[in-house]
Amino acid sequence: MADCLFCRIAAGEIPCKKVYEDEQMLAFHDIHPQRPVHFLIIPKPHLSSLYDAGSEHEALLGRMMAKAGELARAEGLDDGFRTIVNTGRIGGQEVYHLHLHILGGPEPVGPMTQKR
Ligand code: AMP
Ligand code: ZN
Repeated sequence: MADCLFCRIAAGEIPCKKVYEDEQMLAFHDIHPQRPVHFLIIPKPHLSSLYDAGSEHEALLGRMMAKAGELARAEGLDDGFRTIVNTGRIGGQEVYHLHLHILGGPEPVGPMTQKR
Protein backbone atom coordinates (compact mmCIF):
# COMPACT_ATOMS: atom_id res chain seq x y z
CA MET A 1 0.00 0.00 0.00
CA ALA A 2 2.14 2.83 -1.36
CA ASP A 3 -0.09 5.57 0.01
CA CYS A 4 -0.48 4.11 3.49
CA LEU A 5 1.40 6.09 6.14
CA PHE A 6 2.14 3.12 8.39
CA CYS A 7 3.19 0.91 5.46
CA ARG A 8 5.68 3.65 4.58
CA ILE A 9 6.93 3.76 8.17
CA ALA A 10 7.21 -0.07 8.17
CA ALA A 11 9.21 0.14 4.93
CA GLY A 12 11.57 2.73 6.46
CA GLU A 13 10.48 5.43 3.99
CA ILE A 14 9.21 7.67 6.78
CA PRO A 15 11.22 7.88 10.01
CA CYS A 16 9.86 6.84 13.37
CA LYS A 17 11.07 6.58 16.96
CA LYS A 18 11.39 2.83 17.01
CA VAL A 19 10.55 0.76 20.09
CA TYR A 20 10.85 -2.71 18.57
CA GLU A 21 11.03 -4.43 15.22
CA ASP A 22 11.03 -7.97 13.90
CA GLU A 23 10.05 -9.57 10.58
CA GLN A 24 6.35 -9.30 11.31
CA MET A 25 5.73 -6.22 13.41
CA LEU A 26 7.02 -2.77 14.27
CA ALA A 27 6.49 -0.69 17.39
CA PHE A 28 7.16 3.06 17.46
CA HIS A 29 6.30 6.10 19.54
CA ASP A 30 3.13 8.00 18.65
CA ILE A 31 3.91 11.37 17.10
CA HIS A 32 1.25 13.05 19.30
CA PRO A 33 1.53 11.21 22.62
CA GLN A 34 -1.64 11.23 24.71
CA ARG A 35 0.21 10.04 27.82
CA PRO A 36 3.87 10.25 28.96
CA VAL A 37 4.44 6.93 27.18
CA HIS A 38 2.40 6.28 24.03
CA PHE A 39 3.54 3.91 21.36
CA LEU A 40 1.93 1.91 18.58
CA ILE A 41 2.39 -1.72 17.53
CA ILE A 42 1.64 -2.40 13.86
CA PRO A 43 1.78 -5.50 11.67
CA LYS A 44 4.22 -5.06 8.78
CA PRO A 45 1.78 -6.41 6.18
CA HIS A 46 -1.00 -3.94 5.44
CA LEU A 47 -4.25 -4.62 7.28
CA SER A 48 -6.70 -1.71 7.33
CA SER A 49 -8.60 -2.43 10.53
CA LEU A 50 -10.10 -5.14 12.69
CA TYR A 51 -12.95 -5.27 10.14
CA ASP A 52 -10.47 -6.78 7.69
CA ALA A 53 -8.91 -9.25 10.10
CA GLY A 54 -9.69 -12.91 9.56
CA SER A 55 -8.45 -16.30 10.64
CA GLU A 56 -5.34 -15.82 8.48
CA HIS A 57 -4.32 -12.96 10.80
CA GLU A 58 -4.74 -14.83 14.08
CA ALA A 59 -1.07 -15.66 14.54
CA LEU A 60 0.11 -12.16 13.65
CA LEU A 61 -2.41 -10.37 15.87
CA GLY A 62 -1.68 -12.85 18.64
CA ARG A 63 2.02 -12.11 18.40
CA MET A 64 1.38 -8.37 18.59
CA MET A 65 -0.75 -8.77 21.71
CA ALA A 66 1.71 -11.22 23.23
CA LYS A 67 4.55 -8.71 22.76
CA ALA A 68 2.72 -5.73 24.27
CA GLY A 69 3.52 -6.42 27.92
CA GLU A 70 7.22 -6.97 27.31
CA LEU A 71 7.50 -3.77 25.27
CA ALA A 72 5.49 -1.77 27.81
CA ARG A 73 7.80 -2.90 30.62
CA ALA A 74 10.84 -2.04 28.52
CA GLU A 75 9.40 1.49 28.09
CA GLY A 76 9.03 1.84 31.87
CA LEU A 77 5.37 0.91 32.20
CA ASP A 78 5.75 -1.53 35.09
CA ASP A 79 2.50 -0.69 36.90
CA GLY A 80 -0.01 -1.16 34.11
CA PHE A 81 -0.95 0.35 30.79
CA ARG A 82 -3.92 0.91 28.49
CA THR A 83 -4.28 -0.91 25.17
CA ILE A 84 -6.60 0.59 22.53
CA VAL A 85 -7.52 -0.44 19.00
CA ASN A 86 -9.73 2.14 17.27
CA THR A 87 -11.83 0.83 14.40
CA GLY A 88 -13.66 2.84 11.75
CA ARG A 89 -15.43 6.17 12.02
CA ILE A 90 -17.32 5.43 15.21
CA GLY A 91 -14.17 4.06 16.82
CA GLY A 92 -12.28 7.23 15.91
CA GLN A 93 -9.74 5.51 13.66
CA GLU A 94 -7.54 8.04 11.82
CA VAL A 95 -4.89 5.84 10.23
CA TYR A 96 -6.27 2.88 8.29
CA HIS A 97 -3.44 0.47 9.00
CA LEU A 98 -4.32 -1.53 12.09
CA HIS A 99 -2.39 -0.52 15.21
CA LEU A 100 -2.42 -1.20 18.93
CA HIS A 101 -2.03 1.90 21.08
CA ILE A 102 -0.06 1.32 24.29
CA LEU A 103 -0.47 4.18 26.76
CA GLY A 104 0.73 4.80 30.28
CA GLY A 105 2.81 6.77 32.71
CA PRO A 106 2.95 7.53 36.41
CA GLU A 107 -0.76 8.41 36.67
CA PRO A 108 -3.72 6.10 35.96
CA VAL A 109 -4.88 6.48 32.36
CA GLY A 110 -8.45 7.10 33.52
CA PRO A 111 -11.89 5.96 32.38
CA MET A 112 -12.03 3.60 29.44
CA THR A 113 -14.12 6.06 27.41
CA GLN A 114 -15.11 9.67 27.90
CA LYS A 115 -18.16 10.06 30.10
CA ARG A 116 -21.05 11.85 28.45
P1 AMP B 1 -5.96 6.16 15.37
O1 AMP B 1 -6.79 7.40 15.65
O2 AMP B 1 -6.27 5.03 16.31
O3 AMP B 1 -6.01 5.78 13.93
O4 AMP B 1 -4.48 6.54 15.73
C1 AMP B 1 -3.57 7.05 14.82
C2 AMP B 1 -2.39 7.51 15.62
O5 AMP B 1 -1.28 7.63 14.74
C3 AMP B 1 -2.58 8.86 16.29
O6 AMP B 1 -2.43 8.72 17.70
C4 AMP B 1 -1.50 9.73 15.67
O7 AMP B 1 -0.93 10.64 16.58
C5 AMP B 1 -0.49 8.69 15.20
N1 AMP B 1 0.37 9.11 14.11
C6 AMP B 1 0.00 9.74 12.97
N2 AMP B 1 1.07 9.94 12.18
C7 AMP B 1 2.15 9.41 12.82
C8 AMP B 1 3.54 9.29 12.54
N3 AMP B 1 4.06 9.77 11.40
N4 AMP B 1 4.34 8.70 13.45
C9 AMP B 1 3.81 8.24 14.60
N5 AMP B 1 2.53 8.30 14.93
C10 AMP B 1 1.69 8.88 14.07
ZN1 ZN C 1 -0.59 0.04 5.52
